[in-house]
Amino acid sequence: MTPALTDTTLLALLRDMPKAELHVHIEGTLEPELIFALAERNQIELPYADVEALRRAYAFTDLQSFLDIYYAGASVLLHEQDFYDMARAYLARAVRDRVVHAEIFFDPQTHTARGVPMASVINGLYRACRDAERDWGISCALILCFLRHLSEEDAFQTLAQAMPLRDRFIGVGLDSSELGHPPEKFARVFAHCRELGLHLVAHAGEEGPAAYIWSALDTLQVERIDHGVQAQHDAALMQRLARERIALTVCPLSNQKLQVFPDLSQHNLPRMLEAGLRVTVNSDDPAYFGGYINDNFEQLFAVTGMGPAQAYRLARNSLQASFVGESRKHAWREQLDDCFVRHGFQDAIDTSEGAPILP
Ligand SMILES: [Zn+2]
Repeated sequence: MTPALTDTTLLALLRDMPKAELHVHIEGTLEPELIFALAERNQIELPYADVEALRRAYAFTDLQSFLDIYYAGASVLLHEQDFYDMARAYLARAVRDRVVHAEIFFDPQTHTARGVPMASVINGLYRACRDAERDWGISCALILCFLRHLSEEDAFQTLAQAMPLRDRFIGVGLDSSELGHPPEKFARVFAHCRELGLHLVAHAGEEGPAAYIWSALDTLQVERIDHGVQAQHDAALMQRLARERIALTVCPLSNQKLQVFPDLSQHNLPRMLEAGLRVTVNSDDPAYFGGYINDNFEQLFAVTGMGPAQAYRLARNSLQASFVGESRKHAWREQLDDCFVRHGFQDAIDTSEGAPILP
């Protein structure tokens, strides 16, 4: 169990600072209570007796053991309203964590393979995003992810199914089982997506080697790397990531839960930040990994000794790495600076765009 953050002024700052979440799988926000409620509504029998039994099954040892339960949980999603309710619950939670902008991953193949129409998935999620913007002022966008354990041909078919709703998602990503499924497996479909003007991201270097990060950058030509923590084993790659200001969407509690870093105090995020990398903090699959974005911030700061300067850099990185126009980023940066002044941490404001923070 990670100790709580005892510095109450830093805790208040972390909770209150405006931030963007750039790595969250909407299916990974399904809380056990909602899984059971949707199972009842859709008359689906679950292989777990109750909410507590399902929660107890969340004892993962690696990425694959998590994915097995994750796909079982997603089986309760059938209708457009189910996808709406799931996204609505996540966005309500994100607003409480002062997320001003969320770029949300969704895995259509997990649903279309069960006979759920693509339009039910995208329209439910999209409607939740628009309603959240109207009701709570949070900005959000959708990123369609291909499951990398499936074929590139399957990815092409998925993209074709989604194209009638092209105006409802801003980009594509690559997720699911990483090892044995290198980015280059999806070279042609990513090239096609690039021609379509979609933003490109990919999971790389979570459990897989640094070589996967190179090929995500060079072969897929992604704009951000999801996870990327294995870059630490490749000095040339670290230098490139820093030089080209490529954002890494890091997920500390996910990495701890899936044993990428068995102890959060040994997480390499502080070292990557010091090396000048554009690192961000995200929740990945918060319902499964024990925490939403602010839990990630709080637990990481509790054990690594990072302070307001790193908090500012991480929040600013998240806003800068988002796929929105400069005028909105400018407004959010002003909110961020105001927040640091309000909390008495104006000395931590640093507009140098990530020159290395020395320990
Ligand atoms: Zn992920």
